[in-house]
Formats: sequence, C-alpha cells, structure tokens
Amino acid sequence: MATGLARGAAQRGKRIAFGDGRRILWDEHSAEIFRANPNLAPPGSERDRDVEWMPYYKGHRLYNRRVGNRWVWNFDFHAMPGEIYFDADELAAGRRHGQGFVVIEPQSAQWKPVAPNKDWGVQKFQAVADRLRGQGFRVAQFRSRKSATVALPGVEQIATASFRDALAVLSHAALYIGSEGGLHHGAAAVRVPGVVLFGGFVPPEVTGYATHVNLTGGAAACGSLRRCSHCRKALAAISVDDVVAAASNLLMKEAA
Ligand SMILES: [Zn+2]
Repeated sequence: MATGLARGAAQRGKRIAFGDGRRILWDEHSAEIFRANPNLAPPGSERDRDVEWMPYYKGHRLYNRRVGNRWVWNFDFHAMPGEIYFDADELAAGRRHGQGFVVIEPQSAQWKPVAPNKDWGVQKFQAVADRLRGQGFRVAQFRSRKSATVALPGVEQIATASFRDALAVLSHAALYIGSEGGLHHGAAAVRVPGVVLFGGFVPPEVTGYATHVNLTGGAAACGSLRRCSHCRKALAAISVDDVVAAASNLLMKEAA
C-alpha cells in the first residue's frame, strides 16, 4: 500500500519519506518491497532536499487506528495499487512458470492473532481449486521457506525465494484467489485480477482494489482483533459457488 501512496513522486522531482517528520521509519519488509523504487527516500536521507514527508509507518498507518481491541477503519483512505520495480534477473526468474495460471492462497498470516477472523477455510479453497482445475485451469500456490501453508492436493506447488520473487511469478498469472493480505496487495501491484476473501474484519473500501472482486459475505467490517463470531459468520456466508463464479467471470474477461 505504501508504494501506491508514493506513486508518481519521482516525476515531480520528489521522494517520499515515510516517517514522523524527523526519522524515516521503514519496517522489516520495507527494504525488500521498496528496492529500486525511485519514489522513496530510504532511512538516512532525512535531510535531503527532495524528500516529502508522509506520516505512514508501523503504528501509524493512516487507514486505521487502534481503539481498545479493535481497529477503527478510516473510510477516507482508499488503497492505490502499489508498484514493484523488478530488475532484469527478477523479471527473467518471474517467467519460469509460464503464464495464465491461477494462484490460490489458502492461508495467510497464520501467526497473527486476527487470523481466525480472516480464514475462509482450507477445505473451501480446495473445493475452488478442484472446480477450476475441472474447468481446465492450471491452479498453483506459492511455497516459501518461511510459510508453513498447507499444500492443497492437486495444486501445483511453486517454490519462491522471496516475496519479490513470488510477485514476479504472480505477475504472469491470470488470477489471484485468497484472503485480504500481502498477496492481494501484491496482485494489485502487478496488475493481476483477484477474488479476495475479505469477510467482516477489514472493509474493501479501505484496503481493497477496484480491479478485484472483493467478497465480504454481506458484513460491515468490525476490525475486531479478538476471535469474532461476526467475522466467522461473514466468512461462512461466502460460498464456494460465489468464489468460483467470480473467478470464472474474471478468467473469461482475461481470455477475451
Ligand atoms: Zn467481526
């Protein structure tokens, strides 16, 4: 999301400094995602003349604020597709699995306490994968050393060396299907359509993209950081049929 906020800065002769106005505050993922991006000022460039401050950093994300045990969403904030600047080697590596496949992400960020409020269910993702394979689509999921994501039987396992590598491969996919999280932002950045399982935790109006089909199960987002029955109900209200229909629709558009 950060790279979307910084988009176009270099064209204006500026670089965006994400921080509190004194220090540039990047998080543990920033250096990887921001690499080679001309719109961003890295830590250490605080005093450069071309920096433009933006108060966006861990603990101060602009799109939400913490009140007790929930996030209050800022409905004035709308995520803009981000940008990844790949080098030639990354682009070449990204082509190693061909193109036109569907990437499915059956689990995301399981280590986060909020995971149950965003987890649609591995069995339902399996059913979606089976149906799409039945329609003749190639369905794949990413595997990395870090993630302990379950491998869906019958789904091609693509080993990725890093998040950037995953996005370089993803850029050749026809579709992303998965929950709201890193890869849905990545899909938007590499211009890949998506079916994104939002459920009732975070509103698509804030962190979703118009190029994706964002499914909420009809719920208004609660932002609860505790296990939430409203969120579970919202996810349960999204059927395998809903996801397959949205996916087929986007895949037909891609093919047209
Ligand atoms: Zn909820």
